[in-house]
Amino acid sequence: MILKKIAVIGAGASGMMAAIAAAENARVSLFDKNDIPGRKLLQTGNGKCNFLNESDPVPHFRGSIADSGILSGIFESYDRDRILGLFSSFGLLYHKKNGGYYPRSDSAASLNDVLIGVMKEREVIFHPQIQVKGIEKKGDQFFLDLFHLKHNKRSKDETPFDAVIVATGGKAAPKTGSTGDGYYFAEGFGLSVAKPLPALTRLLSPDPFFNDNTVRASVSVKLFIDDSFTAASQGELQVNAGGPSGICIFDLSGRAARALNEGRSCRISVDFLPELDVEELFSLLLRKAERIGAEDPPSSLFNGIFSDRLSVNICEKLENLLFKGRSFHGILSDSLIRDIAVLIKDMSFDISGTGEFAISQVTSGGITAESLNPDLSAKNVPGLFFTGECLDADGDCGGFNLHWAWASGLTAGFAASGAVVCF
Ligand SMILES: Cc1cc2nc3c(=O)[nH]c(=O)nc-3n(C[C@H](O)[C@H](O)[C@H](O)COP(=O)(O)OP(=O)(O)OC[C@H]3O[C@@H](n4cnc5c(N)ncnc54)[C@H](O)[C@@H]3O)c2cc1C
Repeated sequence: MILKKIAVIGAGASGMMAAIAAAENARVSLFDKNDIPGRKLLQTGNGKCNFLNESDPVPHFRGSIADSGILSGIFESYDRDRILGLFSSFGLLYHKKNGGYYPRSDSAASLNDVLIGVMKEREVIFHPQIQVKGIEKKGDQFFLDLFHLKHNKRSKDETPFDAVIVATGGKAAPKTGSTGDGYYFAEGFGLSVAKPLPALTRLLSPDPFFNDNTVRASVSVKLFIDDSFTAASQGELQVNAGGPSGICIFDLSGRAARALNEGRSCRISVDFLPELDVEELFSLLLRKAERIGAEDPPSSLFNGIFSDRLSVNICEKLENLLFKGRSFHGILSDSLIRDIAVLIKDMSFDISGTGEFAISQVTSGGITAESLNPDLSAKNVPGLFFTGECLDADGDCGGFNLHWAWASGLTAGFAASGAVVCF
């Protein structure tokens, strides 16, 4: 039997999984700019690799691929248990922490090594330090235009491929090789691409609350777009110079990026004490106010509630909101204390932008659903597939984006090779 020849462009999480799936039934060549596969994978989860989450991933995604139903169909075929079973069959031991799955070794390298080992077993040919510059289709076959980074030399690869899987990632963390080349290939073949924007990143705010006084606080946050509630999140807020950060902010950043790109207004409302309701906080602050002496600074109202640094930031914000910049020291009435309690549970900050791609974990936007079949092949170019982060689907923190990389890679890999039986 003559096996199909398949090229996979990009040896990230989705490219490796696509190569492994396709190699069940085809001869696979895998190209990457880097000298080793999985350059970005090694950095995931702070080097520990949160590769899956116990929750249903579907509600954790945005973008046209999610809205169209393509994403839910793919996750139905490759749900959490299927992916765990697959990694077990590859020889990976894993464990669960706070709802996320990690390699038992807590080392991203061990998961990467497992994938590299399976690729070797399946005789995937890895071509390191090669940048694919172009894809040409002649009749039913594809030819690649290659740039050899080590030798600084361009060449046309004479090998005809029956199918090409583009797994070039998005534009996030470009130092790992993901510089948006897949969008360029897609547009060259007439596919539609939603503007790529940074996601899972910090937000920017002009509010002076975000000064050099770096603080962390356990909060819940709501995102409002054009003053309508859009999404909520909770966790550790990092108050940094120029804007908020932390995982609860990362999870809202993709929605904020899309809205700001459309010229809509964005703000967040932070509840600095989600565990207390307004009445409980009001009574607590009343008791605290009785103890403040004439010589104590206003921030002493929050002694034992917030860290010193956070108390100072919150006092400054309250003074601007309630007292036109004057200190509220010595003028605290019951009704002002109630206003303070309300504001601590609903403090608004305008959002003016997001962090750049260099410090973002994923890309929002990419190749849209209207150009693709449910098996991730291009509607207008038979044999051309796209997988992973280059697609218009971005998920929350917690292992969801890697679940998408595995599931979309398996879908494209099996479909490209024409496999009937899938593992
Ligand atoms: C710091 C960080 C931490 C993260 N942590 C997590 C986490 O814990 N859990 C989670 O679920 N997600 C995490 N993510 C997100 C997750 O890593 C990505 O969504 C996922 O790796 C995307 O996989 P991919 O294969 O689509 O793309 P990528 O991993 O970006 O791989 C694309 C590959 O294509 C190659 N390439 C690009 N263009 C070309 C070309 N023209 N020719 C040849 N090769 C090319 C690149 O060199 C790269 O190796 C994290 C991301 C970052 C940056």
